[in-house]
Amino acid sequence: MRKHQLIVPLALLAALSVPAHAEDRDISRDTLPADDGWAAYGTGTTGGSAADDAHVFTVTDRAELVRALDGGSDAPKIIRIAGTIDANTDDNGDHLDCADYATDGYSLSKYLAAYDPRTWGAAKPSGPQEEARQASAAQQAERVVLNVGSNTTIVGLGSSAVLTGASLQVKNANNVIIRNLELRDAYDCFPVWQPNTGGLGDWKTAYDTLWLTGATHVWIDHITASDKGHPDAKEPTYFARNYLRHDGLLDITNGSDLITVSWSRFADHDKAMLIGNGDTATGDRGKLRVTLHHNEFESVVQRAPRVRFGQVHLYNNRYAVEDGHRYSLGVSTESALYAENNAIHTPGHIEAADLVKSWNGTALHQTGTLFNGYPVDLLAIHNAYNSGSERDLTADVGWTPTLHAKIDSAERADREVARGAGAGRIP
Ligand code: CA
Repeated sequence: MRKHQLIVPLALLAALSVPAHAEDRDISRDTLPADDGWAAYGTGTTGGSAADDAHVFTVTDRAELVRALDGGSDAPKIIRIAGTIDANTDDNGDHLDCADYATDGYSLSKYLAAYDPRTWGAAKPSGPQEEARQASAAQQAERVVLNVGSNTTIVGLGSSAVLTGASLQVKNANNVIIRNLELRDAYDCFPVWQPNTGGLGDWKTAYDTLWLTGATHVWIDHITASDKGHPDAKEPTYFARNYLRHDGLLDITNGSDLITVSWSRFADHDKAMLIGNGDTATGDRGKLRVTLHHNEFESVVQRAPRVRFGQVHLYNNRYAVEDGHRYSLGVSTESALYAENNAIHTPGHIEAADLVKSWNGTALHQTGTLFNGYPVDLLAIHNAYNSGSERDLTADVGWTPTLHAKIDSAERADREVARGAGAGRIP
């Protein structure tokens, strides 16, 4: 009888489990489907799919990952990440913490004493503690910054591949695919004080979890990026400002172009996604073309995304806004954000007018937005209720997206993204 009771539930479990998950199918030579967003433009995005067998690597620790990345070389290569890789490790694989990186007499308490605005004033920090901070930060950067070269595919194996502590950087490279991977906690041990940011000054951190800079033809799919383990909201306040540890989850800057970000989760973070990092970066004009579809932004404070210059197609995304939210869509200089059929969930006290914020933006196209299950016109609401410091936006963004997969209703996308976005969920 006891044996029988054991067998029945297991058989039931097997019958209920979903077949053909990523662990069953080799995704490492997949290429971006035709028409799937801006990264499909022209030559499309094939990553490392043409790699010969000598350039297919399965890596289990930082040292192996660094060897496979090959200093950001252009050789077609496939890198499969198995299990959890911690970027904060030495060459023997031993974990390094912030104290291990600190050098030249750096200490946070001495740093705070040296640059307290009440005694130091508003000048940029300089002198022994700032120099020690920079030297310490360089030690950490040498470990955690990982450059991804052209013609590279990075995939997680199975449903539990994690890269933690790293800043993956696609810098002046072309044709890159990153899929099925959890990227966690790009934690900066040594934030710098910037006295002239935002009126009261602010802490600036060094690492985006994933940074595309001068990157073209990039497909990001089924990743999960978050601050898991180290939420900034739990960090202390110094100089009356939150001591931030994280920069962007996915920043796309400096002439990056032709990017598709699909079926990914961006969670538990302040500034999630910056597309274009400066109003004076006019070299970005005509670039920063990005498609964002079927992504989930959960418990993100701001920048989901904030856009300058780019033609950004934002369709079928799901927003789960929580307390502490500042805004979701940032409409900045010469941005051309085309938003269709996105679903937004908020606590009752957060209003639809809180979702869009404009700095120097002029236009936002939006249709089919669902707000807590009800249709809303974010543009009309922005124009009616913005704080007055923001100008009215028009609906004419000057372009209509043509490269995209099937566009679902917001209602359907809401359900499917909740179930299917993020690492470990490739069907
Ligand atoms: Ca950044």
